[in-house]
Amino acid sequence: MIDLALNTATTRRQWGLREAVEGCKRHGLSSIVPWRDQVLELGLETSAQLLRNSGLGVTGYCRGGMFPANNEAGRRDAIEENRRVIDEAFAIGSPLVVLVCGGLPEGSKDLSGAREMVIDGIHSIMDHARSANIKLAIEPLHPMQAADRSCINTLAQANEICDLLEPSGSSTLGIAMDVYHVWWDPDLTRQLHRAGASRLIGFHLCDWLVSTRHLVTDRGMMGDGIIDLESIALTMSEAGFKGIPEVEIFSEYWWSQPADEVLHTAKERAYSVLNKLSR
Ligand code: ZN
Repeated sequence: MIDLALNTATTRRQWGLREAVEGCKRHGLSSIVPWRDQVLELGLETSAQLLRNSGLGVTGYCRGGMFPANNEAGRRDAIEENRRVIDEAFAIGSPLVVLVCGGLPEGSKDLSGAREMVIDGIHSIMDHARSANIKLAIEPLHPMQAADRSCINTLAQANEICDLLEPSGSSTLGIAMDVYHVWWDPDLTRQLHRAGASRLIGFHLCDWLVSTRHLVTDRGMMGDGIIDLESIALTMSEAGFKGIPEVEIFSEYWWSQPADEVLHTAKERAYSVLNKLSR
Protein backbone atom coordinates (compact mmCIF):
# COMPACT_ATOMS: atom_id res chain seq x y z
CA MET A 1 0.00 0.00 0.00
CA ILE A 2 1.42 3.38 -1.01
CA ASP A 3 0.23 6.67 0.46
CA LEU A 4 -0.93 8.03 -2.85
CA ALA A 5 -4.31 9.25 -4.05
CA LEU A 6 -5.86 8.91 -7.47
CA ASN A 7 -7.56 12.07 -8.61
CA THR A 8 -10.28 10.54 -10.73
CA ALA A 9 -9.78 13.06 -13.55
CA THR A 10 -6.77 10.91 -14.43
CA THR A 11 -8.98 8.01 -15.54
CA ARG A 12 -12.22 9.89 -16.25
CA ARG A 13 -12.52 8.73 -19.85
CA GLN A 14 -12.01 5.05 -18.97
CA TRP A 15 -13.59 4.71 -15.52
CA GLY A 16 -16.54 5.96 -13.57
CA LEU A 17 -16.26 6.32 -9.80
CA ARG A 18 -17.03 2.67 -9.11
CA GLU A 19 -14.28 1.43 -11.43
CA ALA A 20 -11.84 4.02 -10.06
CA VAL A 21 -12.44 2.80 -6.52
CA GLU A 22 -11.81 -0.80 -7.61
CA GLY A 23 -8.72 0.32 -9.53
CA CYS A 24 -7.23 2.07 -6.50
CA LYS A 25 -7.76 -1.04 -4.40
CA ARG A 26 -6.32 -3.33 -7.08
CA HIS A 27 -3.20 -1.19 -7.42
CA GLY A 28 -2.70 -0.63 -3.71
CA LEU A 29 -3.33 3.12 -3.60
CA SER A 30 -4.48 4.34 -0.21
CA SER A 31 -6.77 7.18 -1.27
CA ILE A 32 -8.99 8.74 -3.87
CA VAL A 33 -10.06 12.25 -4.85
CA PRO A 34 -13.38 12.07 -6.69
CA TRP A 35 -14.75 14.60 -9.14
CA ARG A 36 -18.19 15.93 -8.56
CA ASP A 37 -19.71 14.92 -11.91
CA GLN A 38 -18.79 11.29 -11.29
CA VAL A 39 -20.17 11.40 -7.75
CA LEU A 40 -23.46 12.92 -8.90
CA GLU A 41 -23.71 10.58 -11.86
CA LEU A 42 -23.66 7.62 -9.49
CA GLY A 43 -25.78 9.47 -6.93
CA LEU A 44 -24.51 11.15 -3.78
CA GLU A 45 -25.79 8.52 -1.36
CA THR A 46 -24.54 5.60 -3.43
CA SER A 47 -21.15 7.28 -3.88
CA ALA A 48 -20.87 8.01 -0.18
CA GLN A 49 -21.66 4.41 0.66
CA LEU A 50 -19.27 3.09 -1.99
CA LEU A 51 -16.44 5.26 -0.67
CA ARG A 52 -17.18 4.47 2.99
CA ASN A 53 -17.11 0.74 2.30
CA SER A 54 -14.05 0.90 0.05
CA GLY A 55 -11.45 1.17 2.78
CA LEU A 56 -9.89 4.02 0.78
CA GLY A 57 -9.27 7.43 2.25
CA VAL A 58 -11.11 10.28 0.54
CA THR A 59 -8.53 13.07 0.60
CA GLY A 60 -10.27 15.72 -1.49
CA TYR A 61 -13.29 16.62 -3.60
CA CYS A 62 -13.15 18.39 -6.96
CA ARG A 63 -14.28 20.97 -7.24
CA GLY A 64 -15.81 24.22 -6.04
CA GLY A 65 -14.99 27.78 -7.06
CA MET A 66 -15.92 29.60 -10.28
CA PHE A 67 -17.02 32.64 -8.29
CA PRO A 68 -16.85 35.58 -10.75
CA ALA A 69 -20.02 36.37 -12.68
CA ASN A 70 -21.42 39.27 -14.66
CA ASN A 71 -24.12 40.15 -12.18
CA GLU A 72 -25.19 39.83 -8.58
CA ALA A 73 -27.52 36.90 -9.30
CA GLY A 74 -24.73 34.96 -10.98
CA ARG A 75 -22.40 35.53 -8.04
CA ARG A 76 -25.12 34.43 -5.61
CA ASP A 77 -25.77 31.28 -7.65
CA ALA A 78 -22.06 30.47 -7.54
CA ILE A 79 -22.03 30.83 -3.76
CA GLU A 80 -25.08 28.57 -3.42
CA GLU A 81 -23.46 26.04 -5.70
CA ASN A 82 -20.32 26.08 -3.57
CA ARG A 83 -22.38 25.46 -0.45
CA ARG A 84 -23.83 22.37 -2.13
CA VAL A 85 -20.31 21.23 -3.05
CA ILE A 86 -19.29 21.57 0.62
CA ASP A 87 -22.32 19.48 1.68
CA GLU A 88 -21.39 16.81 -0.86
CA ALA A 89 -17.78 16.77 0.38
CA PHE A 90 -19.10 16.23 3.89
CA ALA A 91 -21.37 13.43 2.68
CA ILE A 92 -18.56 11.50 1.00
CA GLY A 93 -16.17 12.01 3.91
CA SER A 94 -13.75 14.37 2.21
CA PRO A 95 -11.85 16.74 4.50
CA LEU A 96 -11.66 19.44 1.84
CA VAL A 97 -13.00 20.99 -1.33
CA VAL A 98 -10.57 22.05 -4.03
CA LEU A 99 -11.33 25.55 -5.32
CA VAL A 100 -10.73 26.39 -8.97
CA CYS A 101 -11.60 29.99 -8.38
CA GLY A 102 -12.85 31.14 -11.78
CA GLY A 103 -11.59 33.57 -14.41
CA LEU A 104 -13.02 36.62 -16.11
CA PRO A 105 -16.79 36.82 -16.47
CA GLU A 106 -17.82 36.63 -20.11
CA GLY A 107 -17.06 39.84 -21.97
CA SER A 108 -15.12 41.34 -19.07
CA LYS A 109 -11.52 42.55 -19.07
CA ASP A 110 -11.54 43.52 -15.42
CA LEU A 111 -9.07 41.05 -13.97
CA SER A 112 -8.67 42.80 -10.63
CA GLY A 113 -12.46 42.97 -10.34
CA ALA A 114 -12.64 39.21 -10.95
CA ARG A 115 -10.05 38.68 -8.24
CA GLU A 116 -12.15 40.71 -5.82
CA MET A 117 -15.16 38.52 -6.69
CA VAL A 118 -13.09 35.44 -5.89
CA ILE A 119 -12.14 36.84 -2.49
CA ASP A 120 -15.78 37.77 -1.77
CA GLY A 121 -16.93 34.34 -2.91
CA ILE A 122 -14.49 32.45 -0.71
CA HIS A 123 -15.36 34.72 2.21
CA SER A 124 -19.05 33.99 1.70
CA ILE A 125 -18.68 30.22 1.99
CA MET A 126 -16.17 30.05 4.85
CA ASP A 127 -18.77 29.84 7.63
CA HIS A 128 -20.57 27.06 5.84
CA ALA A 129 -17.30 25.18 5.34
CA ARG A 130 -16.28 25.72 8.94
CA SER A 131 -19.56 24.39 10.29
CA ALA A 132 -19.17 21.25 8.15
CA ASN A 133 -15.52 20.96 9.19
CA ILE A 134 -14.48 21.11 5.55
CA LYS A 135 -11.35 22.95 4.48
CA LEU A 136 -11.22 25.07 1.34
CA ALA A 137 -8.11 24.41 -0.75
CA ILE A 138 -7.35 27.35 -3.01
CA GLU A 139 -5.58 25.99 -6.08
CA PRO A 140 -3.57 28.58 -8.01
CA LEU A 141 -3.77 27.82 -11.72
CA HIS A 142 -1.13 28.54 -14.35
CA PRO A 143 -1.50 32.10 -15.68
CA MET A 144 -2.38 30.77 -19.13
CA GLN A 145 -5.72 29.84 -17.57
CA ALA A 146 -6.35 33.22 -15.93
CA ALA A 147 -9.11 34.17 -18.38
CA ASP A 148 -11.25 31.07 -18.30
CA ARG A 149 -10.49 28.97 -15.24
CA SER A 150 -8.80 30.89 -12.44
CA CYS A 151 -7.56 34.41 -11.90
CA ILE A 152 -5.65 33.15 -8.86
CA ASN A 153 -2.38 32.22 -10.49
CA THR A 154 0.39 32.15 -7.95
CA LEU A 155 1.06 30.73 -4.51
CA ALA A 156 1.69 34.29 -3.35
CA GLN A 157 -1.87 35.27 -4.33
CA ALA A 158 -3.27 32.22 -2.55
CA ASN A 159 -1.23 33.02 0.56
CA GLU A 160 -2.45 36.61 0.46
CA ILE A 161 -6.08 35.50 0.32
CA CYS A 162 -5.47 33.24 3.33
CA ASP A 163 -3.78 36.11 5.19
CA LEU A 164 -6.63 38.46 4.36
CA LEU A 165 -9.52 36.15 5.24
CA GLU A 166 -7.92 34.30 8.13
CA PRO A 167 -5.48 36.78 9.63
CA SER A 168 -5.19 34.78 12.82
CA GLY A 169 -3.86 31.73 10.95
CA SER A 170 -5.38 28.93 8.97
CA SER A 171 -8.13 26.67 10.06
CA THR A 172 -10.58 26.69 7.16
CA LEU A 173 -8.49 27.97 4.26
CA GLY A 174 -5.55 26.20 2.72
CA ILE A 175 -3.73 25.76 -0.55
CA ALA A 176 -3.67 22.95 -3.08
CA MET A 177 -0.29 23.00 -4.76
CA ASP A 178 -0.35 21.51 -8.24
CA VAL A 179 3.10 21.18 -9.79
CA TYR A 180 1.64 21.76 -13.26
CA HIS A 181 0.48 25.24 -12.28
CA VAL A 182 3.32 26.59 -10.17
CA TRP A 183 6.54 24.77 -11.14
CA TRP A 184 7.75 27.82 -13.07
CA ASP A 185 7.35 30.29 -10.19
CA PRO A 186 10.68 31.82 -9.07
CA ASP A 187 9.07 32.38 -5.66
CA LEU A 188 7.98 28.75 -5.29
CA THR A 189 10.18 27.70 -2.37
CA ARG A 190 9.57 30.84 -0.35
CA GLN A 191 5.81 30.73 -0.84
CA LEU A 192 5.60 27.06 0.13
CA HIS A 193 7.44 27.81 3.36
CA ARG A 194 5.22 30.84 3.90
CA ALA A 195 2.16 28.59 3.55
CA GLY A 196 3.62 26.02 5.89
CA ALA A 197 2.07 22.96 7.48
CA SER A 198 -1.32 24.46 8.29
CA ARG A 199 -2.04 25.74 4.78
CA LEU A 200 -0.45 23.09 2.57
CA ILE A 201 -3.37 20.70 2.25
CA GLY A 202 -3.05 19.47 -1.33
CA PHE A 203 -0.16 18.26 -3.49
CA HIS A 204 -1.05 17.39 -7.09
CA LEU A 205 1.40 15.45 -9.23
CA CYS A 206 1.89 15.31 -12.99
CA ASP A 207 4.53 16.77 -15.30
CA TRP A 208 5.03 19.56 -17.83
CA LEU A 209 5.66 18.35 -21.36
CA VAL A 210 7.79 20.21 -23.88
CA SER A 211 5.99 21.09 -26.06
CA THR A 212 2.57 21.30 -24.47
CA ARG A 213 -0.10 20.89 -27.15
CA HIS A 214 -3.19 21.83 -25.15
CA LEU A 215 -3.62 24.17 -22.18
CA VAL A 216 -5.71 21.73 -20.15
CA THR A 217 -5.54 18.23 -21.57
CA ASP A 218 -1.87 17.63 -22.34
CA ARG A 219 -0.37 17.06 -18.92
CA GLY A 220 2.50 14.64 -18.66
CA MET A 221 3.02 11.56 -16.54
CA MET A 222 5.54 12.17 -13.76
CA GLY A 223 9.03 11.79 -15.21
CA ASP A 224 8.02 12.48 -18.83
CA GLY A 225 8.48 16.26 -18.58
CA ILE A 226 10.76 18.88 -17.15
CA ILE A 227 9.45 19.56 -13.65
CA ASP A 228 12.00 18.84 -10.94
CA LEU A 229 9.49 16.76 -8.99
CA GLU A 230 11.94 15.34 -6.48
CA SER A 231 13.13 18.75 -5.47
CA ILE A 232 9.58 20.11 -5.20
CA ALA A 233 8.47 17.08 -3.16
CA LEU A 234 11.37 17.69 -0.81
CA THR A 235 10.46 21.36 -0.46
CA MET A 236 6.83 20.42 0.24
CA SER A 237 8.00 18.07 2.95
CA GLU A 238 10.35 20.64 4.47
CA ALA A 239 7.57 23.23 4.37
CA GLY A 240 5.42 20.89 6.46
CA PHE A 241 3.10 19.10 4.04
CA LYS A 242 1.80 16.03 5.83
CA GLY A 243 -1.02 15.01 3.50
CA ILE A 244 -1.27 12.39 0.82
CA PRO A 245 -0.07 13.43 -2.65
CA GLU A 246 -2.40 12.80 -5.55
CA VAL A 247 -1.90 11.95 -9.19
CA GLU A 248 -3.90 14.32 -11.36
CA ILE A 249 -3.27 13.97 -15.08
CA PHE A 250 -5.61 15.53 -17.61
CA SER A 251 -4.27 14.01 -20.80
CA GLU A 252 -5.76 12.94 -24.09
CA TYR A 253 -2.88 10.49 -24.39
CA TRP A 254 -3.34 8.85 -20.98
CA TRP A 255 -7.12 8.86 -21.39
CA SER A 256 -6.56 6.73 -24.51
CA GLN A 257 -4.56 4.10 -22.60
CA PRO A 258 -5.95 1.22 -20.55
CA ALA A 259 -6.65 2.67 -17.11
CA ASP A 260 -4.85 -0.17 -15.34
CA GLU A 261 -1.70 0.73 -17.25
CA VAL A 262 -2.15 4.39 -16.34
CA LEU A 263 -2.43 3.53 -12.66
CA HIS A 264 0.46 1.09 -12.75
CA THR A 265 2.72 3.67 -14.40
CA ALA A 266 1.53 6.51 -12.17
CA LYS A 267 2.17 4.50 -9.05
CA GLU A 268 5.71 3.54 -10.08
CA ARG A 269 6.59 7.07 -11.18
CA ALA A 270 5.07 8.67 -8.10
CA TYR A 271 6.86 6.23 -5.87
CA SER A 272 10.26 7.17 -7.32
CA VAL A 273 9.49 10.83 -6.55
CA LEU A 274 7.87 10.38 -3.16
CA ASN A 275 10.39 8.06 -1.60
CA LYS A 276 12.49 11.23 -1.31
CA LEU A 277 9.88 12.62 1.07
CA SER A 278 10.86 12.14 4.68
CA ARG A 279 7.86 11.02 6.62
ZN1 ZN B 1 -4.70 20.16 -9.43
